[in-house]
Amino acid sequence: MTAVRIDRSDGVAVLTIANPPVNALAAAVRAGLDAALAEAQDDADVRAIVIAAEGRVFIAGADIAELGKPPLPPALPDLLRRIEGSGKPVVAAIGGAALGGGLELALACHARIVTPVATLGLPEIKLGLIPGAGGTQRLPRLIDPAAAFAMMRDGEPITAADAIARGLADAADGPNLLAAACARALELANGGRLLRTRDRTDRLTSEARAAFEREAADALRRSPELPNVPALVAAVRAAFERSFDEALAVEREGFLALIDDPRSRALRHVFFAERAAARVPDLSRDVPRRPVQRVAVVGAGTMGGGIAACFANVGIPVTLIEQEEEALKRGLDRLRATYDQSVKRGSLAPADRDRRLALIEGKVGLDHAGDADLIVEAAFEDMAVKAAIFATLDRVAKPGAILATNTSYLDVDAIAAATARPQDVIGLHFFSPANVMRLLEVVRGAATAPDVLATSLDLARRIGKLPVTVGVCFGFVGNRMLARRTAAAERLLLAGALPHEVDAAVTDFGFRMGPFAMMDMAGLDIGWRSRKATGAKAPVADALCELGRFGQKTGAGFYRYADGARVGSRDPEVEALIEGVSAKAGAVRQSFTAEAIIARLFYPMVNEGARILEERIAARPGDIDVVWLNGYGWPAWRGGPMHWADGVGLAHVAAMLDGFARETGDETLRPAPLLLRLAAAGESFEALGKAA
Ligand code: NAD
Repeated sequence: MTAVRIDRSDGVAVLTIANPPVNALAAAVRAGLDAALAEAQDDADVRAIVIAAEGRVFIAGADIAELGKPPLPPALPDLLRRIEGSGKPVVAAIGGAALGGGLELALACHARIVTPVATLGLPEIKLGLIPGAGGTQRLPRLIDPAAAFAMMRDGEPITAADAIARGLADAADGPNLLAAACARALELANGGRLLRTRDRTDRLTSEARAAFEREAADALRRSPELPNVPALVAAVRAAFERSFDEALAVEREGFLALIDDPRSRALRHVFFAERAAARVPDLSRDVPRRPVQRVAVVGAGTMGGGIAACFANVGIPVTLIEQEEEALKRGLDRLRATYDQSVKRGSLAPADRDRRLALIEGKVGLDHAGDADLIVEAAFEDMAVKAAIFATLDRVAKPGAILATNTSYLDVDAIAAATARPQDVIGLHFFSPANVMRLLEVVRGAATAPDVLATSLDLARRIGKLPVTVGVCFGFVGNRMLARRTAAAERLLLAGALPHEVDAAVTDFGFRMGPFAMMDMAGLDIGWRSRKATGAKAPVADALCELGRFGQKTGAGFYRYADGARVGSRDPEVEALIEGVSAKAGAVRQSFTAEAIIARLFYPMVNEGARILEERIAARPGDIDVVWLNGYGWPAWRGGPMHWADGVGLAHVAAMLDGFARETGDETLRPAPLLLRLAAAGESFEALGKAA
């Protein structure tokens, strides 16, 4: 089968791309188009050319399989130059998505005809790149340059109606796209001199330049670490300042530099890891789903309210259940206040707030969960409490209802064992604030039925979450690794670092907040209570709690928060306390560079990640990265802990961990067998993920 077919009728050559499933611009398609274009040029009977595509997608973009490999001719920019330079008019007939290189191809044509379902976009920014085949030059010539920049900065496609309104495309008059495109092509052939996109300068005015510069300054300020934003700004700026060919060279140079930039590679890794996370290796696509029309949430505390909002926000009615009236009222009041805030900020219309609130019904007593298809338990983090709730739910829930727990650390299988229907039980671990955070750890228990898992994953997407399927263990993926970082942070204090030094190293690395500021925000008392229950120790944090310093909520924790401040300041009392604790432990205090702090904090996390993979708690290294990127603020341009460790070098990570283990006698720091194996073989987590 050839990737491009040529048909002639009434003086028009129609070049049809057929490269299922999404007509990616693979080398065969480029070569096919090039040959067909030459054939049409040489044919004296052909007066005009139409480029069309089979299937529901016009062209979804470059062939991602070719990314990073030596380029195969013809290069897309060369093909587009020939399309644009054609003496016979070329019209794109777009009946579906025209994305990335697909839209760039259409921009090089002399007209674009779209059906109402077409979408047009340049999503390269999401892959850490910029358009590399003239998109940054042709789009600002066809539509308002500031709007063109915004479209490339966001990477979101626009609708056909929007494209028509902006002057990017014309509507097909009549139901037959191909006929409309052929008619337009002949019209252009009869119309005398062809207007090429590259020759247009009417949109590149000084007012447009000023508007673009404002957008550009804003984008640079908002994402200072992303390498592709300055590259995009430079390319679009060149459209105003240089000739078309010179500006194209600026774009190309920026594009090629990004291909090799480690930050750009990390962003690409994130993009593909998020897509891969949607696939659960041993879950068939054909598993039937359970209908979910009504949800109940147990517990109207911090998490329960946010979880209820997630469902109400997409139109699913929710019963929010508490054990007594007062707690219920508090929870409902808090929910209303959150919605009021959104209205005040202007992000929610008052009518939408009212509609959403009307979908949430508060009730006292678990009996009210009887008509729910999904029940999410968000009560206290206590096994006895959860076991009692699930035993009751087993009695009151209708047959086939999904019983989910939002537990952070507890054993989902033990919770399931409190029921006679463990196959219906699953963990849905939301992150705080539940209505905002995108991540959802979906915890698959030993007995969880495939349709319960499949339904939960669908539902997660329906409420706008990014679900990652994980197995049962203490803290699942995210909190299990976080516990290693927390322990490492405490060790650093005993060994000589101070909280602000550790936090500064972590924010310089790219996090918005360091571990101590984060602990102060979350509250130190939760960990303290659970350590008391298990006999674990964190000498500094324990000592702070003994003094009633529970973090922000008490005005003092690792830092001091004067008058309700949300950013803490250094506290000499804490620093003296730390020195006292480390003297008592007989530690010789030393100073640490930021690099040493990062190694001591993050290598133990990577090590735990390796154990998580060995135990098959996560299916792939990329899943772990997705958890940390979306739940814990790992900077996207660093690609997640496992991707980052690959960049550091696994042999180095393993050797350093071995040193930490010897130094502290802490066995958990010994390199995990998987890490040692990869390090010895000179392999990476990335390669392991590809094999998964
Ligand atoms: P919370 O104390 O704010 O709220 C718990 C609520 O559950 C309380 O209002 C309580 O009255 C209610 N409750 C207790 N027993 C009940 C019963 N039998 N019937 C009805 N209501 C009952 O706690 P939270 O922070 O919202 O945490 C809830 C769960 O979510 C815990 O398992 C926690 O580990 C988990 N979680 C918390 C966070 C977080 O950041 N707070 C994040 C992820 C998961």
